Amino acid sequence: MEATGENDMLQNPHFYLKQYFGYDSFKKGQEELVNGILQGRDVLGVMPTGAGKSLCYQLPAVMSDGVTLVISPLISLMKDQVDALNQIGIPTVYINSTLSAHDLNQRFREIAERKYKMVYVAPERLDSERFVRLVQELNIPLVAVDEAHCVSQWGHDFRPSYLQIKHLIRRIEPRPVIAAFTATATDKVKHDIVRHLSLRDPLRVTTGYARENLAFSVIKGADKRKFLAEYIRGQAENCGIVYASTRKEVEDCHRYLTRLGIKAGRYHAGLSDDERKHGQERFLYDEIKVMVATNAFGMGIDKSNVRYVIHYNLPKNIESYYQEAGRAGRDGEPGECILLFAPQDIQTHKFLIEQSESDDEHKQIEYANLRDMVDYCHTTDCLQRYIVRYFGEREGQACGICGNCTDEREMTDITLEAQQIFSCIVRMRQRFGITMTAKVLRGANDSKVKQFGFDRLPTYGVMNRYKEKDIVNLLNVLAADGYLRLSDGQYPVVSLTLRSKAVLEGKERVYHRMFKVRDAVAADGITGSEALFEQLRELRKKFAVREKVPPFTIFHDATLREMCVQLPQTGDDLLAVKGVGRTKYEKYGEAFLECIRSFVSSRTEKEPVEREQTELNEEQRERGVQRQEQLRLKDRQQLKAQHGLQKTNEAGQNNETPSHLLSLDMFNKGLGIDEIAEVRGMSMTTIQEHLVRCGLQGADLDWDRLIPAHQEKMILAAIREVGAGKLKPIKEVLPDEIDYFTIKAVIAKHML
Ligand code: ADP
Ligand code: MG
Repeated sequence: MEATGENDMLQNPHFYLKQYFGYDSFKKGQEELVNGILQGRDVLGVMPTGAGKSLCYQLPAVMSDGVTLVISPLISLMKDQVDALNQIGIPTVYINSTLSAHDLNQRFREIAERKYKMVYVAPERLDSERFVRLVQELNIPLVAVDEAHCVSQWGHDFRPSYLQIKHLIRRIEPRPVIAAFTATATDKVKHDIVRHLSLRDPLRVTTGYARENLAFSVIKGADKRKFLAEYIRGQAENCGIVYASTRKEVEDCHRYLTRLGIKAGRYHAGLSDDERKHGQERFLYDEIKVMVATNAFGMGIDKSNVRYVIHYNLPKNIESYYQEAGRAGRDGEPGECILLFAPQDIQTHKFLIEQSESDDEHKQIEYANLRDMVDYCHTTDCLQRYIVRYFGEREGQACGICGNCTDEREMTDITLEAQQIFSCIVRMRQRFGITMTAKVLRGANDSKVKQFGFDRLPTYGVMNRYKEKDIVNLLNVLAADGYLRLSDGQYPVVSLTLRSKAVLEGKERVYHRMFKVRDAVAADGITGSEALFEQLRELRKKFAVREKVPPFTIFHDATLREMCVQLPQTGDDLLAVKGVGRTKYEKYGEAFLECIRSFVSSRTEKEPVEREQTELNEEQRERGVQRQEQLRLKDRQQLKAQHGLQKTNEAGQNNETPSHLLSLDMFNKGLGIDEIAEVRGMSMTTIQEHLVRCGLQGADLDWDRLIPAHQEKMILAAIREVGAGKLKPIKEVLPDEIDYFTIKAVIAKHML
């Protein structure tokens, strides 16, 4: 009975799975879909990006007689996909608008000669009469429709040409099996797919939406550019995508990264086809590690080793966010998905919704989608779970690795604050928005507040110990967690829910991880020290290896970065760092503290050549002043030597010109800070620090190139008011656009 053995094998998908694709087992959902197709049923596979949808039609294609048609909108990727199939021994060809007439003719001929097992075709080709005639001559067992959500106007990527598919299929005899695949799972989209592709009682397979290898996080209040620079530097070996919302923003980010010496590509609809293609290829083949792009980049980006996806702006809805962020970690290895949240982005979206030509009903839907996206940014629940719930999965475990799951700070009881907020909203008759409510709670001296008589409410000013910004944030958190309702529309009005009423009645208490928002990367404190960051990463790696867990489960990069900024010296200091909870503190705290302490002391003992910390703490400042005197003389000598283009050999320990003096020299030769940073491969902050140090050490510097005259006046006035002892109080009394660097430069110039 040996012959039947062989026959059995030829019926067995596992055999082909191994033979062609080299896999020993199916991924979730694949086997069911493959079997469904082989049994002649239409199928609808809804699986997240990276789940392995392609194999679901490629395998049956290999096992069936005739030619399988694959309809895919991803023209730019067809070549790669087809090459890959030919590589593994499945003769395949593609037809799209990029081919010359000559190539097209040849391919038509070869297809007619039955040379191929699969034909990839762009939907735009389907209404060509010539193509239809060709197809009618062939034996077509299967038509696979990839990215099938493109057929729905509710999806995020509607393609009218997808509506042609069913007309094509109608003309093929006998009717082939139709297999549709997408990563978009909302009911509306699924419904449209079945209807517009005329699927017949399809076998539906929807695998879970959770992507266990992805760690989501939301970062608020960061200086986005600094964050990018810092993060990407820390990921030098890894590939990543940065999504920004507009062409201009893409251009700006790209220019910024390039100036910092980071090799990045860019991609948006304003570039020529060639430029886009070139950029995409360089990224696919790892020649550039970072791609800065609008959402025009990457539907179906097949690059499996994307390690991180950063959203520089808020996406307009969860669907697009998950689709884009999901391009990280397709190989199943850990990936990070970071969203940089800034409230201004909400305004931008609202503006776009208002400007759009949609009817009112559609606008309301867009507002509601935006609301869900904003709630994602504010929720304190597991971020992954928030997303899968959005897609309609009922249960769902906390992922354990997202920014919220790893936030181990203790919960604080904020019932009192919550009650104050709720009662204020009631007194304002639930007719105003978040900002107005915050103003009243804060006790703002505001003409509108007074105009409505809110300054006479008993809740006026009850939260005056908080900043308005913090109150606004708390209101947003309370909304995200279901205590408050925000109406949709351009100016959402805040009102109470049943839950908040229970709190007002004293039946429920409210807990929150933080009150004062201390985000992973504080606006001006991001820079931290690269060197320390590396040391902390090393230490983390040791623990990770020892415990056989991925490093980020020990501490997130963001946590390490914040350690670099805060330089905690005691256990309590360390516990105050976001992401350091009791358990982790007990396990790793001492080791990390030790590392930080020895870094700090080595830096103050040795000459602090590479000081990158943006804000000096008091102690360091004091030590700095003492050392300043000692150093001044020595540096003067070195400076002179340097200008005479000689190198000194000071006390036999320093053969090299100190780094900051090199920067000074370049500055004096007329280079700008950005240019020096680029040439030296350092961050602009480092160069700024260098110059300030030179200034503190008495070097001759053209200050006017660093300090705008009108800012200097304001800064001096501020220093007269609050003293020069600490930077932060000075910064706080000044307009936002005056940065720490300028303040430090003024202090150095005037030797304050
Ligand atoms: P999707 O289209 O669902 O986003 P792909 O079809 O591009 O995903 O597959 C994602 C990755 O998973 C690819 O690298 C593919 O080779 C791999 N893959 C597919 N099926 C399997 C399997 N059964 N075992 C292991 N890896 C697989
Ligand atoms: Mg795919």
